[in-house]
Amino acid sequence: MRQSLVIGNWKMHGSRASVASLLEGLLGAEPASGVEVAVCPTYLHLDQVLQGCAGSGISVGAQDCSHAQSGAYTGEVAAEMLADIGCTWVILGHSERRQYHAETDALVGAKLSAAIEAGLKPVLCVGETRQQREGGEANAVVAAQLAGALADQAQLDGLVIAYEPVWAIGTGLTATPEQAQEMHAFIRGELAQAAGVDAQKTRILYGGSVKPGNAAELFDCADIDGALVGGAALVAEDFMSIAGAAIG
Ligand code: PEP
Repeated sequence: MRQSLVIGNWKMHGSRASVASLLEGLLGAEPASGVEVAVCPTYLHLDQVLQGCAGSGISVGAQDCSHAQSGAYTGEVAAEMLADIGCTWVILGHSERRQYHAETDALVGAKLSAAIEAGLKPVLCVGETRQQREGGEANAVVAAQLAGALADQAQLDGLVIAYEPVWAIGTGLTATPEQAQEMHAFIRGELAQAAGVDAQKTRILYGGSVKPGNAAELFDCADIDGALVGGAALVAEDFMSIAGAAIG
């Protein structure tokens, strides 16, 4: 039995004031028992969110980390530093990192190793573009992203995968439950062939315009174990309602 997991990706949003008010909304809401809940603010807001969420049952993560442990990497943040301040999670290989920062599967794999080494729980994002889906390449693209990042990993216990079709991120378009389930089952099949991964235990989240109105039908699918939520994670009521839909 895989415990449901709902993670909010706050992307590059927030000020100290807006983060305080979002936290107030999240902590004031009915706690979603039976589902694991996490939020990933910007690096700058991590400390504020870690302090705010202490003892609440909401865990905290970062949206990226460096592939390197330390050194002359201006602007980078090491996985070890994130673990040191109390982060639990790190999102890796998000399509916006792949698109705007030219992150390759090899770099994502190196970040994954760094995260695991530091004791963080990685959330590895994979997903195809609209053009790739229309060209019938979705499975091949996702298989290559998984193979590229998972090759040669020493230890993959606790790995979380997020299937995020690029065409559904921030667009209001969502994969149908059938499309999402089909890809999640495909991913689980690929994981079963990867060394060091227990495919049946690995949680596979769906991400891409998840809202309170479409969450339940996605979570009803056998291989969808929760969600990585962008836009709706910035509205406490919506995010907690999505988390509530994942209970069970
Ligand atoms: C995301 O960026 O991870 C995401 C799923 O965004 P949204 O929910 O806004 O589509």
